[in-house]
Amino acid sequence: MKVMEQARAGAPLTLTQRPDPSPPPGQVRLRIEACAVCRTDLHVVDGELPGLRYPRVPGHEAVGVIEAAGDGVDPALLGRRVGAAWLAHACGRCEFCLAGQENLCDHADFNGYTRDGGFASHMLADPEFLFDLPPGAPAAEIAPWLCAGLIGWRSLRATGQARRLGIYGFGSAGQILAQVCRWQGRSVYAFTRAGDLPAQRHARTLGAAWAGDSTQDPPEPLDGAILFAPAGELVPRALAAVRKGGCVICGGIHMSDIPSFPYRLLWGERTLASVANLTRADGREFIEAAVAAGVRCKVRPYPLEQANQALDDLRAGRIQATAVLVP
Ligand SMILES: [Zn+2]
Ligand SMILES: [Zn+2]
Repeated sequence: MKVMEQARAGAPLTLTQRPDPSPPPGQVRLRIEACAVCRTDLHVVDGELPGLRYPRVPGHEAVGVIEAAGDGVDPALLGRRVGAAWLAHACGRCEFCLAGQENLCDHADFNGYTRDGGFASHMLADPEFLFDLPPGAPAAEIAPWLCAGLIGWRSLRATGQARRLGIYGFGSAGQILAQVCRWQGRSVYAFTRAGDLPAQRHARTLGAAWAGDSTQDPPEPLDGAILFAPAGELVPRALAAVRKGGCVICGGIHMSDIPSFPYRLLWGERTLASVANLTRADGREFIEAAVAAGVRCKVRPYPLEQANQALDDLRAGRIQATAVLVP
């Protein structure tokens, strides 16, 4: 199989041939059709997450077909088209798992982080952590559902009943959430990098009630806000934009430091919280909602071998579409 692997933090990925792995007991091998590129992959390749080991193959938004099964796996799974997301394994026994919070599992594994992921032609996976996908949907177009969609959904759930919802950082997750919110009857206020008029136009075409720079105030107070941009300075800005009792949810895995801010921004029972990882229930719920809402993703396919280019383009904000690697 072909993988794009990284030898150490900060190094470019290199194309490597490895033997096709035989799935160990309880696991399956996927033949990957497409794997989307996420901001978290940038944090992985930059070595910003703790405990990274090398060589490592990034990628946690893979669509593929189960083509081999290890001992103990139901052979009926062979041939099934599935998605592998960020959560690769949870122990099922720690206090978090037992409380229904497998996203916080003490012994979790993550695709493309603690395990080799989807920047490859093939990968191994635990079948119970794979998601069924709608048949017929093009692999590249639904690959972004598997992180941008799932984490977006968990973040949206954390905002409760917020009707007027700010989204800071209008990348893949924001674009998917805008469509889900329109379907649910919520109003989206999209905040982009200063002066990014194409992104603001795109937000309006996806149904946003308002779109502007992240340095601007929204035209009315928001009930809640979600931050996908990894910029800590946006936290006080978002708190200032939400009404009393409102919430600000940080949806990213990594963020620059949050500057100090006056207590009055939090006063009035505003809450500030983060969302971490996902549960399988989040995934199933989101996929059902995305199918019902008719969520479409604008994607730009890259050959697997051009993973470095895709990462660079995402980092530089050069593409509005979601980069997707196709083996
Ligand atoms: Zn656990
Ligand atoms: Zn991701």
